[in-house]
Amino acid sequence: MFSSPRGTADILPEEAREWQWMEGIARDLCARYGYGEIRTPLFEHTELFHRGVGNATDIVEKEMYTFVDRSGRSLTLRPEGTAPVGRAYLEHHLNALAQPVKLYYVGSMFRYERPQAGRMREFHQFGVEVFGSASPLADVEVITLAHSFYEALGSRDTLIALNSIGCPQCRPRYLEALQEYYRPKIGGFCANCQRRLERNPLRLLDCKEEQCRRLSQDVPPIYDYLCSGCRAHFQQVQELLAASGLAFQLQPRLVRGLDYYTRTVFEFIHSALGAQDALGGGGRYDGLIEDLGGPPVPGVGFAMGLDRLLVVLRQSGRPGKAETDPQVCVLAFSGLEKEGFLLARQLRAAGLRVLQDFGERGLKAQMKWAGRTGAPWAVLLGPDEWQQQKVILRDLTAGGQEEVAREQIVPELCRRLGSAAGER
Ligand code: AMP
Repeated sequence: MFSSPRGTADILPEEAREWQWMEGIARDLCARYGYGEIRTPLFEHTELFHRGVGNATDIVEKEMYTFVDRSGRSLTLRPEGTAPVGRAYLEHHLNALAQPVKLYYVGSMFRYERPQAGRMREFHQFGVEVFGSASPLADVEVITLAHSFYEALGSRDTLIALNSIGCPQCRPRYLEALQEYYRPKIGGFCANCQRRLERNPLRLLDCKEEQCRRLSQDVPPIYDYLCSGCRAHFQQVQELLAASGLAFQLQPRLVRGLDYYTRTVFEFIHSALGAQDALGGGGRYDGLIEDLGGPPVPGVGFAMGLDRLLVVLRQSGRPGKAETDPQVCVLAFSGLEKEGFLLARQLRAAGLRVLQDFGERGLKAQMKWAGRTGAPWAVLLGPDEWQQQKVILRDLTAGGQEEVAREQIVPELCRRLGSAAGER
């Protein structure tokens, strides 16, 4: 017997309906905000993530699924969506289009992490990216889009944590200040932090180890180090968020786990998630496209974990489901299977969701099966009624049945199911 690989999960039909509902809301919202869908490959050249995500990040150092293919290329299952979308933006010259270019994606990401509640090796993200705008309005648009998404799903209690991590002009001064703060204490930090102190001290701020978090309590806040441009940008983001009625909390130690961010960074935190409390996050990445070999193009985006979001929605008992319940079962006495099959076709063509027993059991067994499907109506084809050009319409919810003329059954069911389907 095989089981699915560690850290992966099957999504069976009943659960898939919740996914469809959630993804449907994401797609509708993206259309309303003017974001077009992009689908990039599940694997990319490994080098893309080295350049786009950063070498001194957890993702690149220890979490990538990297393999060499049969012609010796190093490929990596995508651990995140922004670098691939940036690559596609450049490859297809989307910078020649009217800017900004606004894109979204929904799909699997892969990270070799220790699986636990809310942490998988294959997980799903919904993300958006805006390329070609440096305006704080773009930052706030993506934050409000994410917020509207949580609201539309019925997930309340989501906190917006906000910070600015400056730009290449002002950040070096802050990194020096961080190193000065950390150096005398570095013995108390985990091996990872010790290694990163000189290369990438920002990473020490978001280490998840308890002892490192404690020792980072009193780091100097970045605000004192921001240049005037970054300060003004950050101020405008906060003003716009407030004017949009969105509550947020400034978190000076929020830096996020990827190297490409500049200026605004944010996270969506949910209290019900415990240690894995981030529902999603994002920020501005004005250097990314250049890092990937393109011209300077500012950008901002977010990615949110859909697996975790569903956990939160289930805890509060509120996930919706895509409308896929069967509406009608067609049951036929032996000898009338073909007629039943053709009637089912007609009903489906009228837009109804229809099941048909394949005629491998008696009518009693068929009736029992129909009861278990949850369909509210059954149409029975019996030889006597069929000869009189009639069928039996049975109410599986309330019980009871009646005869209906054969040519009336399709409009009759459409009417009873209150569906516009019959008009198609
Ligand atoms: P990141 O790209 O690391 O900022 O991740 C964005 C969001 O994706 C996180 O806030 C999580 O909700 C989700 N996420 C990241 N890694 C995992 C994982 N291993 N398993 C499940 N969800 C994840």
